[in-house]
Amino acid sequence: MKEPAATDADARADAEAFARAQAVMPGGVSSPVRAFGAVGGTPRFAARGEGTYLIDLDGRRYIDVVGSWGPLILGHAHPKVVEAIVRAAAYGTTFGAPTAGETELAERIVGCVPSIEQVRFTSSGTEAAMSALRLARAATGRSVIVKFAGCYHGHADPLLVSAGSGVLTHALPDSAGVTEGAVHDTRVVAFNDPAALEAALAPGDVAAVILEPVPANMGVVPPTPGFLEAVRASTTKHGALLLFDEVITGFRLGLGGAQERFGITPDLTVLGKIVGGGMPLAAYGGSRALMGFVAPSGPMYQAGTLAGNPVCVAAGIATIETLQREAPYAALEQLGARLQAGLDAAAAQHGTSITTQRCASMPTPFFIEAPVTDLDAAKRSDTTRFAAWFHAMLDAGVWWPPSQFEAAFVNAAMAEDDVDRVVDAAATAFAAVADTP
Ligand code: PMP
Repeated sequence: MKEPAATDADARADAEAFARAQAVMPGGVSSPVRAFGAVGGTPRFAARGEGTYLIDLDGRRYIDVVGSWGPLILGHAHPKVVEAIVRAAAYGTTFGAPTAGETELAERIVGCVPSIEQVRFTSSGTEAAMSALRLARAATGRSVIVKFAGCYHGHADPLLVSAGSGVLTHALPDSAGVTEGAVHDTRVVAFNDPAALEAALAPGDVAAVILEPVPANMGVVPPTPGFLEAVRASTTKHGALLLFDEVITGFRLGLGGAQERFGITPDLTVLGKIVGGGMPLAAYGGSRALMGFVAPSGPMYQAGTLAGNPVCVAAGIATIETLQREAPYAALEQLGARLQAGLDAAAAQHGTSITTQRCASMPTPFFIEAPVTDLDAAKRSDTTRFAAWFHAMLDAGVWWPPSQFEAAFVNAAMAEDDVDRVVDAAATAFAAVADTP
């Protein structure tokens, strides 16, 4: 690595900023994972981004493979996106009235995502997933939703549940403040287990099955061959709607997301992250018939003061337009494969057991030897060794996600050289953690 190594001891501005932040915000952060709880130490504060680099308050420069947890497929501060944001903001930041930009973004989404004929914009992925489930319940007249252990769909009460024991279970709340009543109609099954899903659907009371088609919130766990086909067949057979949460995979695995890559058509789709070009915007969509239930067309109420915000919409259009024009997906696939191979080779060289799982530009090195196919397997990873490795990566100038159970993201601002520098840093980090007990 050419960048100077840095240690937590040097992080004076960050430490001071974190102390101030903790006095006035719970844990000093606006979203929990940023606080480094899973890896220990003091979070570095972001000061600015430049393409593939993030620069912290102390002026240290990192290759950024977090990418704000997925949205930054074009890297930081892409000129086209910044220009669109500045232009839109100068015309007024919000109107609470329809704008032509919303229609243009909607048209681009409809043009790219196979199952979507109409969309509704929201401000966050949480809202979009929550609303899509309300729509599924409105459209089917059924109550129960099925989710998969380890899949994350935002923090709406009915979705804040992890798997209980057993294959088919009424789940227990995963957060204080979520009542048993709120999760009473949520059923949780293991990912990659079609028989468990079939059993959960058998009573005939399920409104929707929601899943990340390629889960990235327990680390990357690709669907085993045939699993998504089985999910589609079971939901159709039992009259439940299939809801793909493509907040991460949408515009990441290709313009048409996972549904295009795997050739499976869901009934409803949730989008977020990339679709807003790094601004707070998300969406849910589906067929014209299903979206016809949404107010004011139909009886399912859902609204938002800042929904379809013109500045966010402008960032989304600029991002999707750039992705359509530059078609970076083949290059991203290659960079992802290069990173995966590099990580596995570097770990082997230093005697650390990892299994790097990847879909397109999203890899996760699990600190465990066996392939990870569900949450139970993911949880067997050596998170202590991961935490030590994470800190060694940070010291070597790589901004890696501060948790074992997250995806890293390669972006289109990266070249092979950048990936090789990440791999070099990883080798140094694997060497550093070789003796971690
Ligand atoms: N769904 C998925 C798959 C996600 O990864 C996330 C956020 N990481 C969400 C929903 C929630 O989105 P938001 O944080 O914008 O509310």
